Amino acid sequence: MRLRQAPVDATPRLELAHRVPGSDVYRLHPITARRPSAGTVDTATPCGTCGETVPLRLSSAEWVRSQRNRQLLLGVTVLLVQAGGGVLLIVWGIRLGWSILPALLGFLLVMLTPFTTGEQFRDSREEDGAVSLDPGHTLREPGNTYDHVDSDGGNYEAGL
Ligand SMILES: [Zn+2]
Repeated sequence: MRLRQAPVDATPRLELAHRVPGSDVYRLHPITARRPSAGTVDTATPCGTCGETVPLRLSSAEWVRSQRNRQLLLGVTVLLVQAGGGVLLIVWGIRLGWSILPALLGFLLVMLTPFTTGEQFRDSREEDGAVSLDPGHTLREPGNTYDHVDSDGGNYEAGL
């Protein structure tokens, strides 16, 4: 798990992934297309394995930073509301003489907070503003050449 924000360079950090047929292995290729100076643009980058030109949607560095900030704000808001609500329910349950239902609901809310906020906090650090528009190619973290679930959720499937 990455704790610091990933850099936002002129080209995406994620790499183009071509899956080797019949295996769980990907061949990764750096994306050579550059980000737009503002907004979002549909562009393409060559695949070094099959030679196809793969369509991509790239967003500007400003958009990426804005999206990261938006995800961070959303994560903090959900964290405060959910964990705070859970603590209030626990306190309410204690005040009612250890009533089990509010205390249990509060405990569940607090315990589920990391799961409900994890995606927002991850996106606040790792959003790259790059999407593959070709279902045959995905975008993956550099070095993530095997199809397995990693702690970063490093497999970025095609789609919007
Ligand atoms: Zn390819």
